[in-house]
Amino acid sequence: MIAMALACESKVLIADEPTTALDVTIQAQIMDLMIDLNQKLDMGIILITHDLGVVAEVCSRVVVMYLGKIVEEAAVADLFARPLHPYTQGLMRSIALLDCDRTQPLHVIEGTVPSLHNVPAGCRFAPRCPMADDRCRAQMPALEEHAPGQKARCWHAKTFMGGQDA
Ligand code: SF4
Repeated sequence: MIAMALACESKVLIADEPTTALDVTIQAQIMDLMIDLNQKLDMGIILITHDLGVVAEVCSRVVVMYLGKIVEEAAVADLFARPLHPYTQGLMRSIALLDCDRTQPLHVIEGTVPSLHNVPAGCRFAPRCPMADDRCRAQMPALEEHAPGQKARCWHAKTFMGGQDA
């Protein structure tokens, strides 16, 4: 994949789960190589991954997607410091940290992702969201900016900023 991108002098490299199933040493080598390409060749990289550790280490901007929709978009530091969408918050709480309480089970997001043939009405995350209310189940929220450069698709995003719901 990387060789093809070099041969074609691509301006953008789309890397879909490039480190999946690799051990951490090879994963680090691949990521170093991609950062090198980004800096030396001025090649933009869109990284598609479920690995939030990789995201934190190499990305500058993050778009979180759920069931085919963007649910949050932010600079990486803002997203990790203050996730505004319950799905992003659930993903963050699912990470096993070195200093976590090992007597407690790791957080899981209840339920499973619905089929695209059976998309829920209203907010697509509502069936799995601990904050879902009647409005969430009836109306899809828009992707709106709630802080400079940080957007979220959630009726209650403002409460996570310490404000009032829209
Ligand atoms: S709109 Fe409602 S259901 Fe959807 S993520 Fe926000 S709180 Fe949860």
